[in-house]
Amino acid sequence: MHVLRGHGQITEINVAETTKEIRRALLDADVNFKIAKEFTNTVKEKAIGQNVLTTLQPGQLLTKIVKDELTQLMGGEAEGVDLQGSPAVILMSGLQGSGKTTFSGKLANFLKSKKTKNPLLVACDVYRPAAIDQLHVVGDQIGVPVFSDKEVKDPVQLAKAGVAHAKQNGHNVVIIDTAGRLAVDEQMMTEISNIRDAVSPGEILFVVDAMTGQDAVNTAKAFNDVLDFDGVVLTKLDGDTRGGAAISIKSVVDKPIKFIGTGEKMEAIDVFHPSRMADRILGMGDVVSLVERAQEQFDEEQARKIQKKIAKNRFGFDDFLSQIHQIKKMGSMKDLVGMLPGAGKALKGMDIDDDAFKHIEAIIYSMTPDERSNPSLLDARRKRRIAAGSGTSIQEVNQLLKQFNQMSKMMKMMQGGGGKKMMQMMQN
Ligand code: GDP
Repeated sequence: MHVLRGHGQITEINVAETTKEIRRALLDADVNFKIAKEFTNTVKEKAIGQNVLTTLQPGQLLTKIVKDELTQLMGGEAEGVDLQGSPAVILMSGLQGSGKTTFSGKLANFLKSKKTKNPLLVACDVYRPAAIDQLHVVGDQIGVPVFSDKEVKDPVQLAKAGVAHAKQNGHNVVIIDTAGRLAVDEQMMTEISNIRDAVSPGEILFVVDAMTGQDAVNTAKAFNDVLDFDGVVLTKLDGDTRGGAAISIKSVVDKPIKFIGTGEKMEAIDVFHPSRMADRILGMGDVVSLVERAQEQFDEEQARKIQKKIAKNRFGFDDFLSQIHQIKKMGSMKDLVGMLPGAGKALKGMDIDDDAFKHIEAIIYSMTPDERSNPSLLDARRKRRIAAGSGTSIQEVNQLLKQFNQMSKMMKMMQGGGGKKMMQMMQN
């Protein structure tokens, strides 16, 4: 938006250039052409003639108008799911491959972490035994029980039995995973309507793959016409998918987007925040989500222990290792890096290796406990032994030592109130 810098008032001329840039950003993010055009026209109308306050550059003001409009378009505030009823029943709908089963698991895991919720997953895909097995794998992974019965071939009966099972066993939330098809088809729609009528869910969620662009919009419309669902889940918003589907779907079905899926792991779920998605679509990255996720995964007690150690200059390689494990828990490297501003584009087509940490771990595991807690012991002889033991080179060991020292230094700085400074650095 450099074209606007330095002007005192927003005029037709400087707006034209900027709205062109905005429209390009929207199209890049896979927003439907008509919607993008309408959107930029609205922005133009709102912007022209506005006097720019002394504290704001015209470009900043326009960015703000764009962001506010975009946020509004996607639904304003974040909305939760309806968890009333005992048990609360959540019905999942969507095409095969959209990420329904994965998301059912993520949602169960998410609710379970709220402590007061004790979810049950119900497998209602009577056509594909593999789908039932998949839900069991997911359930085992997150420690949530799964109700299924391969003998029963009627999905309505299964759904009802699932809800009854939940009641008997003290589950206050039931998540019903249903059968999808590769394309919208009448039988699937009838079946899921029948399930809905039988179990009266408080919440019907429609799951859709954000990478499918325009198809996502058409599918959403077809499902909404039949089910009148309550909310949308956008999956596969990792890496370089910019999320324009969010705007298109919202414009067409006018239902809130409630959650996004950002990876294959069970932790890769986020509550949908329209303002953050607006930032992401405009290419500003999703720093707030990233920071929040880091906070969620961060074990506070461990953090306190580490802080103490830093204060006493006793931060060692074992601590470094546990930090790496914390980072790994947050999701795959690709998901994380994708959330950084500007990274999406830069990393397009690049393969980020989740094993990037493997060498580091191998080197640390080759150190003796003494060396780990007191890295200054590492002289040339010891380094040679460690390199040989870990199947790496002396250069790699030195490189790690350098990183370790930098990290220790940075952590010291953050202790001294430098945390804020770091955040500012990240945002600039
Ligand atoms: P279903 O047929 O709708 O139940 O879809 P699945 O849950 O089986 O998901 C289909 C594929 O998409 C699987 O390989 C999942 O691991 C993958 N998947 C699901 N959600 C996400 C996501 O948010 N990001 C990525 N990258 N992959 C996902």
